[in-house]
Amino acid sequence: MAKCPECAGKMKYALYRYTCKRCGLSLTRVELDDLQEKLRDQVKHEKTKDFEKEKRRKEYLDWYLSSKDKK
Ligand SMILES: [Zn+2]
Repeated sequence: MAKCPECAGKMKYALYRYTCKRCGLSLTRVELDDLQEKLRDQVKHEKTKDFEKEKRRKEYLDWYLSSKDKK
């Protein structure tokens, strides 16, 4: 069962189109694949951003702690 890329609701397949039962979004197979691909990329991008942020924070923390040791 396909999931709606907008609201994650269930989608019904009829007349070559997927229609969301919850929000009424109507897409063809190609449009649906395209949207889901975009959403996956977005999630990937967000994760990378978080990872970079976390890495910088740790580096700063390391630097901060090591500079404190040096007194
Ligand atoms: Zn929907």
